[in-house]
Amino acid sequence: MNVELVTVGTELLLGLTVDTNGAEIGRACAADGLRLVRRATVGDDVDAIRDAVSAAMARAPVVITTGGLGPTRDDATKLAIAGLFGRRVIEDPEVLRALEERARRMGRWPMAASNRSQAAVPDGAVVLPNPRGTAPGLWLEHDARIVIMLPGVPREMRGLLHEEVLPRLRQRMGDAVSVVRSRAVRVTGIAESTLADLVGPREDELAPLTLAYLPSEAGVDLRLTAWALPPDAADRALAAGVGRLMALVGAPAYGEDETDLAAVVLTLLRQRGATLAVAESCTGGMLGARITAVPGSSDVFVGGEITYANEVKSTRLG
Ligand code: AMP
Ligand code: MG
Repeated sequence: MNVELVTVGTELLLGLTVDTNGAEIGRACAADGLRLVRRATVGDDVDAIRDAVSAAMARAPVVITTGGLGPTRDDATKLAIAGLFGRRVIEDPEVLRALEERARRMGRWPMAASNRSQAAVPDGAVVLPNPRGTAPGLWLEHDARIVIMLPGVPREMRGLLHEEVLPRLRQRMGDAVSVVRSRAVRVTGIAESTLADLVGPREDELAPLTLAYLPSEAGVDLRLTAWALPPDAADRALAAGVGRLMALVGAPAYGEDETDLAAVVLTLLRQRGATLAVAESCTGGMLGARITAVPGSSDVFVGGEITYANEVKSTRLG
């Protein structure tokens, strides 16, 4: 099922806010077998939003928007899209009740008058409850065309996407879904070129997965991707691929996806009953910060010295 995305916000056009919603929705769609085929960004302007959504609706059965659902005058998404569907915007008593309840609970009573506008929804829209904020998501459907409006705040958008939107879309797609999913093996302490010499000759064995080398200061992530497979087959292929890569690379492969190198180091030290102290110069405490950011590090990490000047290095560290 094709999907188009319209992110709304003048701050996105000005480059003052990075469109992380776009990236996140792209990843979530791919993982769930939805084909996100186009992304557009427009400012907080009724005409611009209407044009972008109307063009997207002409091409794709599902259009998602984020942003422009707030209580202020620059929040124009709802009006623009209601206009496109020829719907009036009317106050929803249920949404109003939820807004008032939330305002009371948060000690913001009486509720700001501008919040009341968030209880207005396009006639016939399905309200997607947003427990993380004031603007609910809205699902508007007509003639096999679906427009889904989500708030711009990333945390609220993410909650609604995973709890309300994707389950509904998955249901529409039925069983014949093919997904794009990835897993990454994290590698450190070995140059990208050396790694390529090691892995390159065996890459064919990873098919149908594709392999990407993603180098950074911390090391190289080897990202495996399964393209257009049923979810089960994708997960199986990825599990097998990760196992192969781990075995092939050996010790420099220290974990997967979000694994933190500092946490891995602490675990290894803990297994040996060893403790760790650090002496830092140019890093000015960053190494200690990295280590103490791992919950439970205190049984291994005893502390550190920040010795910047040469004199302090010799007096404190010898
Ligand atoms: P809005 O729902 O348009 O009032 O946006 C609320 C907040 O979410 C603002 O601080 C925006 O900068 C932020 N925001 C809106 N759209 C996006 C986006 N596409 N990516 C990241 N942040 C966003
Ligand atoms: Mg906005």
